[in-house]
Amino acid sequence: DVLLEATEVRKAYGPTEALAGASLRVRAGEVVALMGPSGAGKSTLLHCLAGIVQPDGGTVRYDGADLAGLSDRARSSLRRTDFGFVFQFGQLVPELTCLENVALPLRLNGVRGRVAAERGRAMLAELDLSGIEGKRPGEVSGGQGQRVAVARALVTAPRVVFADEPTGALDSLNGEQVMQLLTTAARDRDAAVVLVTHEARVAAYSDREVVVRDGRTRRLEAAR
Ligand code: ADP
Ligand code: ADP
Repeated sequence: DVLLEATEVRKAYGPTEALAGASLRVRAGEVVALMGPSGAGKSTLLHCLAGIVQPDGGTVRYDGADLAGLSDRARSSLRRTDFGFVFQFGQLVPELTCLENVALPLRLNGVRGRVAAERGRAMLAELDLSGIEGKRPGEVSGGQGQRVAVARALVTAPRVVFADEPTGALDSLNGEQVMQLLTTAARDRDAAVVLVTHEARVAAYSDREVVVRDGRTRRLEAAR
């Protein structure tokens, strides 16, 4: 039950070879951590897996379909319906309330306002964030904001959540809370998580760690 599969993916930015043949399989509901030094190609691999960056070579398959075979429009649509995203700095929309931020992906998927708000409220409650619905991101703590970002990533019931250094801007206690929340909520929903981190403590929340180095993936077992 491989859900997402990158095979020998290559990507260059001008003279910089960001990916030089990276391969990865993600099973449904599996939490995979991409580890490795800065500049190794982790974010580029995440972006290729998520259909945000088009590889120069190799293939990315999601649910059996080659992402390169989809139109831009179909890829965008797939990202909205099947994928969720958490970034290092929550990237909440500052003008919107926390509830509006969580409801936004549903609105973008055509869910009506009242229904979207209802689901957003339930999502916040599930993540123990009741009470901050009406606050703007600038009015909550960094840890709360990042938990709101987790709520926003999960509200559409995605099959894969992509998280790029989701705890990078947090202290270790808040970082652990966010990882606990993200992995527990994802496992409850049988959503896979592809996580980029350089912190072993964060990667410890995964089922499997994959090392990226010089644009190539290697299993941690093999590296040991
Ligand atoms: P990591 O996430 O492991 O730090 P990245 O995937 O961000 O690595 O970057 C891999 C390499 O590709 C680096 O040398 C980086 O500078 C380069 N790179 C990444 N994105 C771009 C871009 N949009 N334009 C130019 N170079 C890029
Ligand atoms: P960008 O400015 O990167 O093009 P978008 O126009 O795609 O951003 O989205 C506007 C805001 O909505 C961004 O802050 C983005 O983080 C947020 N957002 C939340 N969920 C989604 C989603 N499922 N699809 C697109 N944008 C989303």
